[in-house]
Amino acid sequence: MPPRVAEVTSRPNGEPLVRLSGVNKWFGDLHVLQDIDLEIARGEVVVVIGPSGSGKSTLCRAINRLESIQQGEITIDSQKLPEEGKALAGLRADVGMVFQSFNLFAHKTVLENVTLGPVKVRKKSAADAEKRAKELLDRVGVGNQADKYPAQLSGGQQQRVAIARALAMDPKVMLFDEPTSALDPEMINEVLDVMVGLARDGMTMVVVTHEMGFARKAANRVVFMDGGRIVESAEPETFFTNPTSDRAKDFLSKIL
Ligand code: ADP
Ligand code: MG
Repeated sequence: MPPRVAEVTSRPNGEPLVRLSGVNKWFGDLHVLQDIDLEIARGEVVVVIGPSGSGKSTLCRAINRLESIQQGEITIDSQKLPEEGKALAGLRADVGMVFQSFNLFAHKTVLENVTLGPVKVRKKSAADAEKRAKELLDRVGVGNQADKYPAQLSGGQQQRVAIARALAMDPKVMLFDEPTSALDPEMINEVLDVMVGLARDGMTMVVVTHEMGFARKAANRVVFMDGGRIVESAEPETFFTNPTSDRAKDFLSKIL
């Protein structure tokens, strides 16, 4: 059995914003998350990489409780993830999620996509939600698309709307699961640039991506997963220039 990797990170004082301890999850017989210990500090940007099927998406989905876990504990801002109900909705709202496939509401305008959650879940007034939505749409560079429908936008624009929609909930942490994998190459940077901006503004982020440029530019730490385990955890420069495990070396030789 491979050794567990101890988390060694310099971070500000205080409790980690996100903490996974002893997390195990199975899909039937498949042990998809194995003894995951991971702490993410406020303002930290963690890039998660690893081969397909290594459990990266499941890890993200466990953090906002789209997937349950069978063992271990996950806390957000010192609060344990509840099983269900109102408390879960509240805590899930603290965790913004951006998927590979945009997942915008097709029959709502861009503006409505961004105001819906704040009005329904955060109980903001329509006027407040709209004001904030417009600011966020400007911030991600699609302020002039507010009245369009998602299908009228390019993939890069849709993904930036999805980021604005997640930010509108005022999340404590943002999870990105391969946010640029479904995009045409010329649109990748417009999305990554928004994410780099968020990172620089101090957002706590977990980003599953194979975009090594982003990792080098914005990540405090790279976590390498394989076979449901965290195999390596290091600063980007260290990880890319001097990976310690054979599995990480092999993986990097294929993608770099
Ligand atoms: P990654 O995102 O790293 O590609 P995933 O977390 O999506 O990996 O998947 C990890 C493993 O769990 C894979 O073997 C995948 O087939 C399996 N898996 C993912 N979701 C389910 C599910 N809902 N039911 C059964 N197996 C699943
Ligand atoms: Mg995945």
